Parts: sequence; C-alpha cells; structure tokens
Amino acid sequence: AKRRSRNTISFFTSEMTRTMMRRLEMESDLRRAIEHDELEVHYQPKVDILKGAIYGMEALVRWFHPTRGMVPPDEFIPLAEEIGMIVPIGEWVLRTACRDAMELRRQGIPMQLSVNLSMRQFREADLVERIAATISEIGLDPSFLELELTESILMTEAAQSIAALNEIKRLGVTLSIDDFGTGYSSLSYLTKLPIDILKIDRSFIQHCGHDGNSATVVSAIINLADQLGHSVVAEGVETVAQLAFLRERRCSRIQGYLVGKPVPLHTFVAQLDRWRKI
Ligand code: C2E
Ligand code: CA
Ligand code: CA
Ligand code: CA
Repeated sequence: AKRRSRNTISFFTSEMTRTMMRRLEMESDLRRAIEHDELEVHYQPKVDILKGAIYGMEALVRWFHPTRGMVPPDEFIPLAEEIGMIVPIGEWVLRTACRDAMELRRQGIPMQLSVNLSMRQFREADLVERIAATISEIGLDPSFLELELTESILMTEAAQSIAALNEIKRLGVTLSIDDFGTGYSSLSYLTKLPIDILKIDRSFIQHCGHDGNSATVVSAIINLADQLGHSVVAEGVETVAQLAFLRERRCSRIQGYLVGKPVPLHTFVAQLDRWRKI
C-alpha cells in the first residue's frame, strides 16, 4: 500500500511538472509572439437585422504558435493578463485593428470597430493617452471606435472606473459592456456608468429561441437597455429561431456564427456582399 501511494504521488508530481513546464513554455513563447509576428487580428461582422446591413466588426486576436498551431484566446488571454503581456498585445491589437478599419474606409466601406479591453489594460495609468495617441496617429475618427469591457472590470474599483470611463468617452469613443448578465453587476451601479451599449452574453442567447427562462432574461435585458437609453447587441446568435426571437423583441444588432465567424480582413471584405444579403 505504501508503494502504491508513493507511485500516486510521483504520478501527480510529474503531471504537475508537465503542466508547469507547458505553462512556462507558453509564457516565454507568448512574450515573443509579437516580435515573431505570430499574432493576427480576425474580424467578426456585426449586423443590424432591421436594416439588413453590416455596420461593424469586432476585432478578435489570434495566436498562431509555430508548433502548437492556433492557440485559442480563452487559453492565452488569461495567461497574458497574468504576466502583463496583455498590455503590449492589447495595444498591438488596437493599432492593427484601427489601421485595418482605416484601410476599409479608404476602400469605401466604413465599419464601426469594436476592440476588447482587458482588466489589466484598464488599470494602466496612461491608458487614455495611449488610446488617444493611437487613434490620432492612424487618423481614425474616434466615433468609429467602440471599446468592450466586461462587467467585472467595471464593478471593481467603482469610483476610479467611472472617472476612467468618462475620460475615454471624452475622446469620442463608444463604450460597451461585454458578456452582460454574467457578472455580478448591481443595477443601481449600472445607472452611474457612462456606457452606451450592453452586449447580451451568448449563454442567454443560446437558449432564447426555445427556453422560456432565457427568453425572459433576454427580454429583460433589452427592456433594461431601453430604459437606460443604451443600445443592445445580442452575441452568439447561431440559429434562425434565435434571430426570429430577437427580431420580434426589436433587438436589431446581432453578432454570431449565423451571420459570420471571425475571419481575416481579406476574407471579411470578400464575404461582405454575401453577408449583406442576410
Ligand atoms: P468575447 O469578447 O466575448 O468575444 C466573443 C467570442 O465568442 C469570440 O471567441 C467569438 O469567436 C465567439 N463567438 C462569436 N459568435 C459566436 C457564436 O455564434 N457561437 C459561438 N459558439 N461562439 C461565438 P474568441 O475569438 O475565441 O475569443 C474569446 C474571448 O477572448 C473573447 O470573448 C475575449 O474575452 C477574449 N479576446 C479575444 N480577443 C481579444 C483581444 O484582442 N483583447 C482582449 N483583451 N481579449 C480578447
Ligand atoms: Ca467582446
Ligand atoms: Ca462577449
Ligand atoms: Ca466572453
């Protein structure tokens, strides 16, 4: 029995070592990802279903690791956040996406651009200056830029958050709450935030076409946004039933695989005509 427990321990130990080694390796690889040109920004269309037109796109970062292949953001963004790499990565994404949006404008296809902002970036003292510098360097009209923040970022450090958000708003940039409904937001606090858009989390949208409870939550969020004077975007729309439900509730802005997955810029442009017909 003694030997078996020793074996068990060494099994777990080597398992832990492997996990740790993998993490350390990922960490050092991630530190070099920008200079090694391994990051790419993909774009997912945002559609106005009442107008039947694409009005914007969300920038989503992709990491093409030389041996592991594509590492999903859900795997490396939390790591990047932990080791602080999210700051240079986030800045690179913002710059790249703004350049791409400018390129589309030059081609006569103006698009609203959404970029995700992480907790760590939001806490940087010079965040607003850096955003301002990037926008003006590239020449993008700030009203074309929307920054997405999650509820958890906004609900912590309440007073400072509001001050920082107001500064960003003064640049002329639009603000939205991402994954709305999944955080621990207090509704009274919500009224104090200078935000423009609520993005209903995919977990609610997923079942709203057939499940009464999800449908109720989605309707409630749409009404809440309406009452507060915010726009609303439904995320993760995959089925025609979900689309029909949202249309009936007059939620006009949607995003999801039903319309299009995130793709490289050239694919985004190539698919525009097909998407416009939806
Ligand atoms: P998010 O900001 O909530 O982005 C939406 C995610 O849902 C994306 O996953 C998108 O590909 C996926 N999605 C969109 N429509 C559908 C759908 O109809 N069905 C399903 N199943 N999924 C859908 P992705 O690209 O893997 O990104 C995951 C998360 O990683 C993002 O969630 C965001 O939190 C983070 N992320 C991605 N890019 C960036 C970035 O540049 N900066 C920061 N800070 N975070 C990023
Ligand atoms: Ca987002
Ligand atoms: Ca989201
Ligand atoms: Ca998410």
